[in-house]
Amino acid sequence: MDFGFVELSAQDRALQQEIREFLAELFTPDVFALEHETGSGFNAKVYEALGARGWLYPSLPVEQGGAGFTALQNRIMELELDRQDARVMMMKGTSSLPMAAIRKYMPAEIADPILKECAAGRAVVCLGYSEPDGGSDIANAKVRAVQDGEMWAINGSKMWTTGAHISTYTFLITRTDPEAPKHKGITMFLVPLHSEGVTIQAIRTFSGERTNIVFYEDVQVHDSMRIGGVNNGWTVLHGPLDEEHSIGIDSNGGLTDVSVGVSFSRVLGASINEVAQWALKTASADGKSMAEDTRVLERLGSAMVDYEAGMCTPGPMGRVKSSDGLVKQAAQLQDLVGPVGLLPMNAEGGIGVGDIEYAHRFAQGTATYGGTVEVFRTIIAQHVLGLPKAQLPGAKVFMAGKKK
Ligand SMILES: Cc1cc2nc3c(=O)[nH]c(=O)nc-3n(C[C@H](O)[C@H](O)[C@H](O)COP(=O)(O)OP(=O)(O)OC[C@H]3O[C@@H](n4cnc5c(N)ncnc54)[C@H](O)[C@@H]3O)c2cc1C
Repeated sequence: MDFGFVELSAQDRALQQEIREFLAELFTPDVFALEHETGSGFNAKVYEALGARGWLYPSLPVEQGGAGFTALQNRIMELELDRQDARVMMMKGTSSLPMAAIRKYMPAEIADPILKECAAGRAVVCLGYSEPDGGSDIANAKVRAVQDGEMWAINGSKMWTTGAHISTYTFLITRTDPEAPKHKGITMFLVPLHSEGVTIQAIRTFSGERTNIVFYEDVQVHDSMRIGGVNNGWTVLHGPLDEEHSIGIDSNGGLTDVSVGVSFSRVLGASINEVAQWALKTASADGKSMAEDTRVLERLGSAMVDYEAGMCTPGPMGRVKSSDGLVKQAAQLQDLVGPVGLLPMNAEGGIGVGDIEYAHRFAQGTATYGGTVEVFRTIIAQHVLGLPKAQLPGAKVFMAGKKK
């Protein structure tokens, strides 16, 4: 791990200042209020304003709608966005996962205009992986796509399609050969969500984030919207899945977040900050500042250890560490401040901007989406430790009873 200090050149420092000032003007209170109300992880004004400067995906070349930023400049942008509100930028992260696959596997005449719209902030892509029957085993997808000439008919339903209601397309896993082994019978499509036969139903989660169930009823999709070969969907999915699972993401000279869990740890960091401010301003029963109470300091110290561990632990381990740390410490911090910690943003008598209350709700979902922590532990065993594929509970019994 490289803890080296990165020296910014005068040019990079000027860019940092320019970005900071631009974002400070862009992220007006109505942006936060709208996100609080909708939980969509998206804001059209913000995305389009960033897109107009090539700053939504700034590492893309200018001709692809980016700004041709270096890895360091891109990192400056990411960190400045995090200083504002990572929640609003969620759908940027989601869209970026399939964008590389779209570029790689679709013909340029189809992919280029779509990707330019994404870079301009006018198009968003959501992930249509999970189904009502299960999200961990996505290769088991049941949504059917059947070809008829140049068109495909899609039928079935997807669960937890976050952002479907504001997205232009969904990156959809479909089953195209039900007879083939499960990994060999799936095909990926980029399905326009305004298509006839698509119905989107809201699911509001405990954290306030909105996700959706999406029904596909005889949805007609042109073959040009297929990504990669027929029944070759598993190959197409590899890149986006590895990125989501933090496998091999440190390809940027140590400048990217060490794991997808870093975003969870940042939420813990905001809570710790809020509790520290509370401790400085609050007196305990004996009239002393809470900030002088060793029990308060011990709890804050313990939370800081988990925060730092989450920020520094790389790959799939970081995703698990960050989620575990956030779940545990968000509850501890709420416990520490007492009933006022339950007051949400803007509530009278609440602490700060309600980060403590939010962190506890947000923490619960982090153990599930993007792959559960249990599944990640299996990924660590196989991909990091090189252990053999796990035998699932009951598999031996099932196999033993199977005729050869
Ligand atoms: C807020 C939210 C947003 C989401 N957004 C999206 C999205 O945008 N797109 C999308 O496609 N999905 C999304 N998901 C779905 C998410 O990826 C799945 O919930 C997750 O992968 C788990 O799938 P499941 O809920 O169907 O549980 P299941 O797969 O049914 O698993 C049930 C339990 O069994 C355990 N389990 C399953 N398989 C294994 C295994 N091999 N080893 C060990 N334990 C195992 C799991 O850990 C879990 O505890 C979202 C979920 C949430 C809650």
